[in-house]
Amino acid sequence: MRARLLCIVFAAGMIPLYIGMKLLQAMHWSQSYETRLEQVKEHGTTLAGLIAQNGYLQQQSQAEVTARIYTLADMLDGNVMLVNNGLVVVKDTTGRQDGKTLVSKEPISALNGETSTYYNEEEGVAEVVLPIVLGASAESTGQVIGAMILEASFGDIIEEQKQFQNNTILLSACAGMILLVVSTVVSGGMTGSLRTLAGRIDDITEANDGTRVTEDDNYAEVRQIAEAVDRMMERAAATEKSRQEFVSNVSHELKTPLTAIKVLSDSLILEPDVPIEMYREFITDINAEIDREAKIVNDLLSLVKLDKTSGELNIAEVNINELLEVILKRLKPLALKRGIEMVFESYRTVVAEVDEVKVSLVFSNLIENAIKYNRDGGKVMVSLNADHRFFYVKIEDTGVGIPEEEQGLVFDRFYRVDKARSRETGGTGLGLSITKGAVQMHRGSIKVQSIPGVGSIFTVRIPLSFVMTVQ
Ligand code: ADP
Repeated sequence: MRARLLCIVFAAGMIPLYIGMKLLQAMHWSQSYETRLEQVKEHGTTLAGLIAQNGYLQQQSQAEVTARIYTLADMLDGNVMLVNNGLVVVKDTTGRQDGKTLVSKEPISALNGETSTYYNEEEGVAEVVLPIVLGASAESTGQVIGAMILEASFGDIIEEQKQFQNNTILLSACAGMILLVVSTVVSGGMTGSLRTLAGRIDDITEANDGTRVTEDDNYAEVRQIAEAVDRMMERAAATEKSRQEFVSNVSHELKTPLTAIKVLSDSLILEPDVPIEMYREFITDINAEIDREAKIVNDLLSLVKLDKTSGELNIAEVNINELLEVILKRLKPLALKRGIEMVFESYRTVVAEVDEVKVSLVFSNLIENAIKYNRDGGKVMVSLNADHRFFYVKIEDTGVGIPEEEQGLVFDRFYRVDKARSRETGGTGLGLSITKGAVQMHRGSIKVQSIPGVGSIFTVRIPLSFVMTVQ
């Protein structure tokens, strides 16, 4: 990542630098070229004036003009050629074209009064063709009597341009070096932060002592990652804590009946002459403890099953009124034993898409609790209602109630408000967590309202139609 970051930062700086350098070089060349061309034209025009004045095109005897022509040729480091209006070369400083007739485009257009320029890049030579005009003044353009062809070497400005290019390259190289250092520092800083973070995560994972990863960092994004890791670790720690609690609770719960069985059987074994009545009584107790152990194991198995995904629900259309009536009928003997009255109130017929077994378990647990934690001669009221999306079942009792601070805890595994009473009634403390798990599998909710000494109300809300969520 560091190398990639370095390349990006470096390229981001180098590309504009390179373009800038090229642009500067082009501008420099165009300026030198234009200036030089202007100079050539200026000298040429002056000389053309002198030639026209002295009638040099007709008679090349004036030594002074000839000298000026050669001086200009020297100055241009090239040559000067004069053509008359018949396109015949009357003077060529190289002497090669003297007396020849030129039929090329440029002298012809010069005879029409136009100036043309041509630059031969390969040789670094510019050719300027000017008209030679007689009697030109501010008012009139005068008469074109011939043309002057100037060949000027641009070698010196080419040299100068090369020098300029070398300088800009040197400058860019320096800037590039600085950029490289800067991008190394910047990318190092960024990846360094991430590397430090990774190191801290490793250390903390190793130590596992609850130290937080989050600490001050220059980059907000790195801080965010650290915070996210902290949140994840907190969650993992909470899960681990609840797992440990669960294991220790399970062991404890399973040990209690075993201890009782051990004590009872030990006393039977150690006592030399046990009367048959005592045997009977102890064996009955041992049997009850075995039942309890079996109930805990069964409840635990139900809980484990609920931990699986909702994809394993066996969804079908179920008449909830009938389902509740069956449960109430089944639990009636239990209520009658303690003189508890059970009332079922239904506002409408409700048919919902649910897993019948799991929903039965939910309402059985709640109604059984309403009986178990009721006073003798109390009342249990079950009501069923629905709107267009959910059905609601309310189970109300006139029992011992649950203190407010414990109302949120009763759904935890193995949580019992009154341990002794719950044990007496055969409770394992798992019923409500199984109930809540089953309700949640149906994407429903459960809540409790309770006043100690007055009674409790458990309300369950479950969607009428089951929508499977994509896992
Ligand atoms: P248990 O098997 O002990 O009944 P539950 O998970 O069903 O376990 O309930 C947890 C605890 O919540 C019970 O031990 C009891 O103290 C309390 N509880 C549950 N239902 C009621 C109720 N209707 N009235 C009063 N307390 C209740």
